[in-house]
Amino acid sequence: MSIEKVHDYIDQHSQNFVSELVRLVKQPSVSAKGEGIQECAEMVENVLQKAGFSTQLIPEKGGYPVVYGELASKKSKKTLLFYDHYDIQPPEPLEEWKFDAFGGKIHKGRIYGRGSSDNKGNIISRIKAVESFLETNNDVPVNVKFVVEGEEEIGSPHFAPVIEQHKDLFSNDATIWEFGGTDYEGRPTIYLGLKGVLSVELRAEGAVRDVHSADAPLVPNPAWRLVWALSTIKNKKDEISIGGFYDNVEPPSMEELQLLDDIHQEEEKKIKTLGLKEFLNRRSGTEAKKALLYSPTCTINGILTGYTGLGSKTVLPKKSMVKLDFRLVPNQMPDEIFEKLALHLHKNGFGDVKTIRHGSTEPTKTPVTEMFVDVVAKAAEKVYEKRAVIYPTSAGSGPMHLFRNQLHCPVVSAGCSHADSRGHAPNENLTIEGFIKGTKFMATILEDFGQS
Ligand SMILES: [Zn+2]
Repeated sequence: MSIEKVHDYIDQHSQNFVSELVRLVKQPSVSAKGEGIQECAEMVENVLQKAGFSTQLIPEKGGYPVVYGELASKKSKKTLLFYDHYDIQPPEPLEEWKFDAFGGKIHKGRIYGRGSSDNKGNIISRIKAVESFLETNNDVPVNVKFVVEGEEEIGSPHFAPVIEQHKDLFSNDATIWEFGGTDYEGRPTIYLGLKGVLSVELRAEGAVRDVHSADAPLVPNPAWRLVWALSTIKNKKDEISIGGFYDNVEPPSMEELQLLDDIHQEEEKKIKTLGLKEFLNRRSGTEAKKALLYSPTCTINGILTGYTGLGSKTVLPKKSMVKLDFRLVPNQMPDEIFEKLALHLHKNGFGDVKTIRHGSTEPTKTPVTEMFVDVVAKAAEKVYEKRAVIYPTSAGSGPMHLFRNQLHCPVVSAGCSHADSRGHAPNENLTIEGFIKGTKFMATILEDFGQS
């Protein structure tokens, strides 16, 4: 098939593609609040249908629908699947937006709005890449499937059973994950994995009611109980002290470590924008990159106890609670880590501290040596005319492990965002140039995967 014709078609129809994206950005789809979900799912389904896909909305038990689309190639038996999500993060704080978060305003070559980059730009870019093939070649180089879920931004709580029940429908030879783009130097960035995450809540209880703090010599203080318990979990060197926590951590391979040299972190910029003097433990260079991608973490998300209002109140609280998340790396499993945490608290005399488990996802990555990684990297290099930066894994989390473990496919994340896209933050945006180039990139992946 002629990829030049496809690229020309993309250039000629770029305005239409942008309008389609603007329309999708104007449709709210905030999963955290359940706002506009059904409407957005139907809109994505409609865009797929118009492009030539046969589609269905798969209900998630207790959750939001998954949009599924498929399109058969006349000449290839191979299947490429695109994983995306149509839900978005809440747009707040609204007063920090230059333009309406749901306005889809175009300003100086950028499309502004919540979801423009994460993940609606990628949804449209990928569908339009397929559509451009159909329009110019009357066929696609490989079979194409889309799985677009509506709960990614809230941790995909109902997604696992959908994958399990649709293994045949979702089966594929390679998957393109939802995110990616270019770095500050305009180099294409692709990602091969995600950390896992385990969210936990700890609770300590004392008397049945708040007590006068004069009684402190007699009445146990749940705030102190929690602080003491927390101090056994992590030391001042930032090491996690839970027994056996690091046992299953698989160190990065030599090939992975070599890839770190290509990654440019913009350290100074990040330190400055965060108002810091330096990174934690004065990490920098390769050490900082290695820690970011390969260190499991334990983060206190928030602590709630006692009186924190104006002035002072000499009170001894009746209860305290903390929310924690653990970011996990291969091969740490959420079940294993939760058990080790509970055992650790018990062994250290904190059997009275209640441990409550919230959501979790497993860590996963596709090996650097997988052939599909090379297909995507080479396609990127053709389109961007710069060497692709391969992140052997990334610091975020998501349901990628379900695809790796249940569908057994290589998964590579690549997309059309840019370094200043501001996903999850005010003034989220996508450059039109990046959006169109990203569409050509996706078309090239389709073509090259067909020939590989
Ligand atoms: Zn996101």
